[in-house]
Amino acid sequence: MKACVLEAINKLEYKEVPTPSPAAGEVLIRIKASGICSSDFSRVFKTGTYHFPTIPGHEFAGEIVQVGEGVDAALTGRRAVVFPLLPCNECEQCKLGNYALCSNYNYFGSRCDGGFAEYLAAPLWNIRLFDDAIPYEVAALTEPAAVAWHAVAKAGIQPGESVYISGSGTIGILCGIWARKLGANVSFMVRNEQKAQLLQQTWGFDAIRTDADAKAPASRPDLILECVGTPQSVQAAIDSVKTAGRIVLVGNPSGDIDLPKALYWKILRSELSIQGIWNSVYPTEWEEVLEQILQLKDELKPLVTHQFPLSAGQSAFEELRDSKGLILKAIYTNE
Ligand SMILES: [Zn+2]
Ligand SMILES: [Zn+2]
Repeated sequence: MKACVLEAINKLEYKEVPTPSPAAGEVLIRIKASGICSSDFSRVFKTGTYHFPTIPGHEFAGEIVQVGEGVDAALTGRRAVVFPLLPCNECEQCKLGNYALCSNYNYFGSRCDGGFAEYLAAPLWNIRLFDDAIPYEVAALTEPAAVAWHAVAKAGIQPGESVYISGSGTIGILCGIWARKLGANVSFMVRNEQKAQLLQQTWGFDAIRTDADAKAPASRPDLILECVGTPQSVQAAIDSVKTAGRIVLVGNPSGDIDLPKALYWKILRSELSIQGIWNSVYPTEWEEVLEQILQLKDELKPLVTHQFPLSAGQSAFEELRDSKGLILKAIYTNE
């Protein structure tokens, strides 16, 4: 099969590699769409993966084309997404079913070969089937959509609450879509007019400008979902939320996150609740989010702004890196 193999930092090569075959208890998936995550940019251009060579890609959807021993052959031909985490099943958190908090996991696309390939063999446990009505490129959003679903679930959103989202990348917008579905009044905190217009025109979201000349927002939200991970954004979230409000930290940190004393005081004196989230709860939240995706697939589709054939290899990453235009989710596709 063909795959994009990360041979070294800055060397993602489209090449021939052995096609995996499904072991007992596994299925072989023909990957149809594989999302490029911002974490994959770090892997390709900065940090690499855990070892070389590795096939990156942890957000993918495809068709089951073969089953291993002991797996129902009727699954052949079904559409499936893959939970990319392979838990140890032995640690304390695994025994509690908190697989995302496993202390000794494997992971498709970073610790072992992932979805920038024509095929991948995965344990049946990691597979969730989805309805044929969901296009593959939308199904490839399931992993980030589950992370966003987990964030709004942890936030405990009540209908009618006011929720601000800081950050208007894929995860931020997904958080907004799910929070609105749960009945919240959602606004985005954004720095530029182009993003504000996109959020308004494509999804009907209000945007609150937070650039230097913007006026302070008139009201304070009950909850802020912080999806950026910079000191400025975390500080703005603490500054903006209402007394006894909640903040959910979703964005991966860009570096050290420092905190001025006045904002630390606000956490104490306003009794703010600050919750971190990591990954998603499998399989429950994946099943919930696939139902939501089926209902809102047309609303999710505009998140996929770029598609590349797998053969584009590293040039896809370079084009995205050098682009001045708006990028939400880019995916590799396999015909
Ligand atoms: Zn990701
Ligand atoms: Zn574990």
